[in-house]
Amino acid sequence: MLAYIGLGSNLNNPKQQIKRALLALDNTQDIKVVALSSLYQSPPIDGSKQPDYLNAVCKVDTHLSALELLKVCQVIEAQQHRAREKKWGARTIDLDIITYGVQVIASKQLIVPHPEMMNRAFVLLPLAEIEPTFKVPILGSIQTLIDKLDTSGLIKL
Ligand code: ATP
Ligand code: CA
Ligand code: CA
Repeated sequence: MLAYIGLGSNLNNPKQQIKRALLALDNTQDIKVVALSSLYQSPPIDGSKQPDYLNAVCKVDTHLSALELLKVCQVIEAQQHRAREKKWGARTIDLDIITYGVQVIASKQLIVPHPEMMNRAFVLLPLAEIEPTFKVPILGSIQTLIDKLDTSGLIKL
């Protein structure tokens, strides 16, 4: 199954945090990282006073179920000492499943496609970089989603 994972960090050397999470993903049995976007810098989504974020999106080829993949992401977050303080607060690493094949999932633990992806330039632009003609399940063409969004706050590094 092909899935896309969004990575974000704004604490303790974000670039290193993203690199480390990618290695951890790729070193997990039954997960191969097969593509990676550039890094992007963006201000916090809630406008609060915290450092800017670094974001990237990777494509993985996996034999894990969507829920197993989420569990792996959460273990990696824990390994990198992610603290869960307030919603959208600063964090060392955040791993979100953006899409999982063409599956549409709405369970208590997991919603796929990620429910906020269409509102987030830091997800859509890196995703389009690796998959320019991507059709997002339910939401449609990645390019159409980008056209509807103000992407001016995002800096491609
Ligand atoms: P946001 O979801 O708006 O990006 P966040 O990433 O800061 O916010 P977290 O605290 O990391 O939110 O996650 C809260 C919960 O979201 C997780 O415990 C997880 O069960 C759930 N969740 C639902 N859908 C997804 C998904 N597609 N990817 C990752 N987590 C998800
Ligand atoms: Ca997130
Ligand atoms: Ca998350």
